[in-house]
Formats: sequence, C-alpha cells, structure tokens
Amino acid sequence: MDQQAIQSIVKEVVSRLTGASVNPHMIPIAVSARHCHLSKSDLEALFGEGYELTKKADLSQPGQFAANETITIVGPRGSLEKVRILGPARNMTQVEVSQTDSIKLGVKAPLRESGDIKDSAPITLVGPKGSLYKKEGLIIAQAHIHMTPEDADRFNVENGEYVKVEVNGDRPVTLGKVLIRVSPRYKLEMHVDTDEANAGIITGKTMGKLMKGEGNAT
Ligand SMILES: [Zn+2]
Repeated sequence: MDQQAIQSIVKEVVSRLTGASVNPHMIPIAVSARHCHLSKSDLEALFGEGYELTKKADLSQPGQFAANETITIVGPRGSLEKVRILGPARNMTQVEVSQTDSIKLGVKAPLRESGDIKDSAPITLVGPKGSLYKKEGLIIAQAHIHMTPEDADRFNVENGEYVKVEVNGDRPVTLGKVLIRVSPRYKLEMHVDTDEANAGIITGKTMGKLMKGEGNAT
C-alpha cells in the first residue's frame, strides 16, 4: 500500500473517531429544543432570592450549560411546561421557541438573532416561587453557525454573513439565511430549532454543507 493510500485511510478513521468530516465544507448540526436564558433578577423572582442554577450538563459551546431547573411559559392560548433553563445567567431574559410552540402559545414570536429581543413577543414565566410577565423576550431563534476565526477563514465567510446550508439526509432540505457567528470562544456547530430539524429529519449526528449566498429567492 502506498503512503498516500495509508494517509487517506488514517484520515478517514480519525475523522470517524472525532466525528469530523473529511469534507472541509461539512458542519455538525445540533438541534436546540425550546429553552430560556434568565437574568439574575428574573431567576430570583421565579426561584427565590439568592437562587443559583445547578448544572445538569455542559453544552457544546464552552461555558454554556443546561440547568436542572425548568420553568413553565404561558401565552394567551396555551402553555408549555418543563422549558429548560440554560446557564449561566445573562443580562437579559430571552425565551427561544419554535414556530410550532409560538402557535400553541398564541403569540407571534419574531424570527431573531439571539440577543436581539427589542420589541419581540411578550411571555409569562412561571417558576416554583413566583411568576413574571415579560413584555418582550420571546423569539424564534434564527438558524446560525458558531465558528472560530480559523473556521471562518477556511469557509471564506465573515461574522454576520448569511449562508445556505444543504442537509442531505433521508429528507433533504436546504436552509437559507443561516447566520454566521464568529468568536474564538466558539466551537464549530450549526444550531437549528426543532421545526427545522423535523422538516429535514435532522438528528444529533446530521452534517450540513455550507454554501455561499443567503438562500433568498431573488
Ligand atoms: Zn447557538
């Protein structure tokens, strides 16, 4: 066996072991179920003064974790129980749901980049020690890709750029207007919500192919 053949086999085996793809344009996709981020004061209003979140599991993005604590969210038409809180506490309370959830709640949540909650939809939060009405904070999170500056160089994309991602699973879909988010603190991963995941039958092991261009019909 020649050297090149050995190298290609080693590369293939290593990529399978690490979960990375041989194809440099492939991106691992993670599905974000509905969740919320709470400010410290809102956490205390719902769970009691001085309350601190307890960690259930680390998330893929460094420093982020899923808490053991959950809340109920309530809209004019319905409610959703056991909505996971993600830590650590943030400056602003933000609840991220799917369009399907939004219909069930009876609120029109806008499609937004995480952190952009100005004039977003209102929502009531219920915890074990109290409840809160937030006049804004409910959004449907825009599909996005976290990556490091090195990844951005490799993909030839910039922070804030929109791209398309093709997912060739059992039910192939192409997601348009996927936002690129670059930070040295990030790990390469695309985040979609449960509606997007279900549309493309995307599971935890699905990979997507990044393509330049927004994917808007023009
Ligand atoms: Zn994300």
